[in-house]
Amino acid sequence: RIAYVNGSYQLHAEASVHVEDRGVQFSDGVYEVIAVAGGRPLDLPGHMARLRRSLDELRIALPMPPRCLGVVMREVTRRNRVRNGIVYVQINRGVWRRDHPFPPETVSPTVVVTARSGLGPGPAVVERGVRVATLPDQRWARRDIKSVSLLPNVMAKQAAHEAGAYEAWQVDGDGYVTEGSSTNAWIVTRDGTLVTRPVSADILAGITRQTLLALARAEGLAVEERAFTVEEAKAAREAFLSSTTSLALAVVAIDDAPVANGAPGSITTRLRALYQDHMRGAGAG
Ligand code: PMP
Repeated sequence: RIAYVNGSYQLHAEASVHVEDRGVQFSDGVYEVIAVAGGRPLDLPGHMARLRRSLDELRIALPMPPRCLGVVMREVTRRNRVRNGIVYVQINRGVWRRDHPFPPETVSPTVVVTARSGLGPGPAVVERGVRVATLPDQRWARRDIKSVSLLPNVMAKQAAHEAGAYEAWQVDGDGYVTEGSSTNAWIVTRDGTLVTRPVSADILAGITRQTLLALARAEGLAVEERAFTVEEAKAAREAFLSSTTSLALAVVAIDDAPVANGAPGSITTRLRALYQDHMRGAGAG
């Protein structure tokens, strides 16, 4: 396997960043995870736009033209022979003697790109659907930035797994679901309306979320971007989560309450199929 680190392609097993890297010291950086479908990055313009926004918010300069980063991503994908999988990109504030303020502008940001095969849960999990566990959202107030500071997300996911759940649904102070630890949250109401929280600093603007919204609207499905409570989700007709790696994945239980009859719902299943068509179309294109 091959990884890209600061301008060179290295053996993955030996690739490393410096001990004084700001990513190591402060989690002072951002990342993207992009699906590879048929050997090509999926929805790359959306991921690049979000990456540039995250970088701008943290005042980290992309140390190469965006076009070149796209070339590196394709090259890492190709060198690892990934047909279906993910590309990971991290850009952080670079290497400098540990000190909280930004290093001088002459310090070049660190760029790491890796790729691996395999995407999301297997067919058995998809067919059965997954359980989510609710817990308080303990993250900072800028969840719109795709920061590598993921400690609350890690703790939430671990707590969910220890409770026998696939994902944590994090809940704000008013009882509304924000999102999962690495996924966006959705429900389908009794009258068939898709509901997901609007984009704001409270959640990450998922690229899968954006694509699913477009696919749903093109299908003529009713869509409402608004927050929903845990109680509303438990009483919903369907629930699901979305991300680059999980696509659209049915949520069949919330804590100990089954959602409807405890099986994946028809709208979720249809959306997942539409999304897979989108992946195949992009991969073939
Ligand atoms: N929310 C959070 C907190 C995430 O980490 C992710 C995954 N990056 C998502 C939502 C889903 O985003 P995407 O569809 O772009 O993978």
